Amino acid sequence: MTQRVLVTGGAGFIGSHYVRSLLGGVYPGWEDAEVTVVDRLTYAGNPANLEPVGGRHRFVHGDICDPDLLRTVVPGHDVVVNFAAESHVDRSITAAAEFVRTNTLGVQTLMRACLDAGVTKVVQISTDEVYGSIDDGSWDETAPLAPNSPYAAAKAGGDLIAGAYAHTYGLPVSITRCGNNYGPYQYPEKIIPFFLTNLLDGRAVPLYGDGLNVRDWIHVDDHCRGVQTVVEHGRAREVYHIAGTAELSNTELTEQLLKAVGADWDSVERVADRPGHDRRYSLSDAKLRALGYAPRVPFAEGLAETVRWYADRRGWWEPLRAAAAKGASG
Ligand code: NAD
Repeated sequence: MTQRVLVTGGAGFIGSHYVRSLLGGVYPGWEDAEVTVVDRLTYAGNPANLEPVGGRHRFVHGDICDPDLLRTVVPGHDVVVNFAAESHVDRSITAAAEFVRTNTLGVQTLMRACLDAGVTKVVQISTDEVYGSIDDGSWDETAPLAPNSPYAAAKAGGDLIAGAYAHTYGLPVSITRCGNNYGPYQYPEKIIPFFLTNLLDGRAVPLYGDGLNVRDWIHVDDHCRGVQTVVEHGRAREVYHIAGTAELSNTELTEQLLKAVGADWDSVERVADRPGHDRRYSLSDAKLRALGYAPRVPFAEGLAETVRWYADRRGWWEPLRAAAAKGASG
């Protein structure tokens, strides 16, 4: 049976990878899926991310906080996967309201529309950051939410409201929580594409604080396969972790990026730490693995491929960096 899939935030980094995979026939049995993308096209949403599948999906330029729009778009879809979010922690520190709007109110508006339309599978995409920071060990899905940044708090709000729609109204929604993603088409503000594009231009990179904050990295392709596993086999009202494959401090990551582009530590500037910077995130993914999922992309391979992609695709990121520089000076 042809599945009709609505992907919100499908013009961003991870959502567009999911759409390209779905329409590229990567998920067996879903080759004929009909896909609609709803995206507000913020600075992070980029129609160029969907060019490889141009014309094979329906694109709706719109906001998940707009109930009238959702009332016209959501009916007729079997599956809704919500990637739409404000996603950059640094921006949430200077402009939190937009994060609460999209990451919490937007989720409520979308859940309501899914309920009214009788959608049979909803997946809310979330993050390990909702748990706060952990010095040792890993969180499982029962860990209490203790978010620290406005980004993480607003995502936790979205998760809680999605859970409430499952509990109160029986909406068939599952939640996925993932670690730090890397890969092609990531807007050049997060550490890997920001550092890479700086280094490729011969510029310095700013390393926060003592550089010892630890993140668990996952290739975007593994994240999206984890999401698809939950779309196909996940249970409603359940949370599933999609863990990374490489736990690295920012110093270790910087070392690998410098090496990959032939630069050295002279290109690194130490800068004041991010306020409230979480020290470490770590997820246990045993629950998702029990559904048949396992990550496939070894970090060294995925990073080398990502470095090549940014080196070869200046035409994708140079306009984004130029627009950001203009915005900053304007
Ligand atoms: P992104 O910033 O690259 O993309 C977000 C997309 O959402 C953009 O296309 C943007 O235009 C769209 N959008 C923003 N507000 C919207 C609104 N109100 N209505 C409709 N569309 C809107 O983010 P990403 O890195 O692709 O992250 C996708 C999801 O995955 C987010 O929910 C994020 O919290 C989650 N996540 C990301 C990471 C990561 O490392 N990037 C890790 C774990 C979880």
